[in-house]
Amino acid sequence: MIIQKTANSRISSFDPENYSFGDHFIDHMIVCEYENGKWGEVKLMPYGQLPFSPANMAFNYGQACFEGMKAYKDKDGEVYLFRVNKNFERINKSAKRLAMPEVPEEVFVGGLKALMDIDRAWIPAGEGKSLYIRPLIFATEEGLKARVSNKYMFAIVAAPAKSYYSAPVSVKISDYFSRAASGGVGSAKAAGNYAASFYPTQLANEEGYEQIIWTDDSTHEYFEESGTMNVFVRIGDTIYTPPTSEKILDGVTRDSFIQLAKHRGMDIRVEPISVKTVLEAQKAGTLKEIWGVGTAVVTTAFKAIGYKDEKFELPVLSEEESFALTLKNDLVNIQTNAAEDPFGWRVKVEKNVLETV
Ligand SMILES: *Cc1c(COP(=O)(O)O)cnc(C)c1O
Repeated sequence: MIIQKTANSRISSFDPENYSFGDHFIDHMIVCEYENGKWGEVKLMPYGQLPFSPANMAFNYGQACFEGMKAYKDKDGEVYLFRVNKNFERINKSAKRLAMPEVPEEVFVGGLKALMDIDRAWIPAGEGKSLYIRPLIFATEEGLKARVSNKYMFAIVAAPAKSYYSAPVSVKISDYFSRAASGGVGSAKAAGNYAASFYPTQLANEEGYEQIIWTDDSTHEYFEESGTMNVFVRIGDTIYTPPTSEKILDGVTRDSFIQLAKHRGMDIRVEPISVKTVLEAQKAGTLKEIWGVGTAVVTTAFKAIGYKDEKFELPVLSEEESFALTLKNDLVNIQTNAAEDPFGWRVKVEKNVLETV
């Protein structure tokens, strides 16, 4: 690993008691370049700008994918990552689908641990706080011929994140737009998937909804995801989430929620959820909760769902009554070392990682 430490740490300008997400990037970043069929040496360097031509192939043909993860500090100041291998495996699955080279484990995991170690002072401690980490791979070759790039960059940047709390939102069940299609790239964390979701989301915003519940592209009869999160529905005391597929992203939070629900002995079923079932349950009064899950906010509860011209309110549950919040607390307690980790999910970041690389 090539290490260039910053001579001008910005940490004194960061107030861990008062900041908002995205205002600050940590002092360093990881960069690794791919050329002539192989990845070069991992570089840990000061965070900053990189020069790219507008003819960069990532900008023109969209070969770009990313990951979203977090690091947490416990009450003793120890630093933990969460299920790192899931993100490592997923970025390579995304890369493969976009005809990009896979990154070796020592580049992804080795770079990540070194970065977390050197900038551990940037990881905020306390209720709901964490460091949001963004690993990404993108094409860097300059050229306008529509083909696979021969050059790529793997990078990791990170920014302190705020509270997990996100207010309950209203969501519109899509009966026209799709996030993903059969044979498409929905299960990859492809940058372009986000670009394609913004316009339908803007239209939903104009109708007074914060997010969209994406339905299947062929019939729009089945739930797939909500916004950029996986979706869970509770009818009576049974929780449902659709099975992952090439159209549904295999979220780490989704998988963790399923395992936590089973661990608690809850009735959780990985089954397709139809719009019809949800609307019938709403009418019958058995629809209790719908929520989205993802690394960024862990859980977003839904307060209303819209379908065509109708809008239905969901019940307001107390923290004790809500399965979503119960499972969220279980997860956060494991992530932040506030509870036992029977699953072996936490990954401790040892001190002085750099001395061993
Ligand atoms: C990242 C992402 C998720 C959530 O995945 P996590 O691993 O739980 O953060 C869900 N859906 C989409 C489309 C995503 O890009």
